Amino acid sequence: MSNVDGADAPYWSGLAEGRLLLPRCTACETWIWPAVSRCGHCGSDAIHWIERAPNGRIFSWTRTWHRFGLTEHLDLPFVSIVATVDDCGIRLLGRLDDPDQVDPVIGEPISGRIGATRAGERDIPTILWSRS
Ligand SMILES: [Zn+2]
Repeated sequence: MSNVDGADAPYWSGLAEGRLLLPRCTACETWIWPAVSRCGHCGSDAIHWIERAPNGRIFSWTRTWHRFGLTEHLDLPFVSIVATVDDCGIRLLGRLDDPDQVDPVIGEPISGRIGATRAGERDIPTILWSRS
C-alpha cells in the first residue's frame, strides 16, 4: 500500500468509500497508472479522478499456498488477480473470491466489489474480484 499522501491517495480514499476512482489526463485523455502528478504522455498536470465500474478481464493470476508476512488473516490458498479494467486499460491487483478453487482463465471477464484485507492490525481496502 502506498503512502496516503502520494499521488495515488484518491485511489485509496475512493476504495475506502467503496468507489473505484482512476486517474485520467484532462489534456490528452490518457489513463494514467500508476498514479503520478504529471501526465507521462503530454506533460500536463491536469489530472482528474474518474469513477469506473470495477469490471474487467483477468490479465494474470497467482494462487498462493504458503503464508508470508501480513497474510495471517487470509485463508489459504488465496488467489491474487491482476485485472485489466474495462475501457481504460489500467491493470489493478486484487483478490479473487475463490470458493470453488477453479483455476482462473486469462481473459476471463470478472467484476469487482470493494472489500478489505486484514493485514497486521490494519484493514486495507481491496478489490475482491468475482467471476462475472
Ligand atoms: Zn496527457
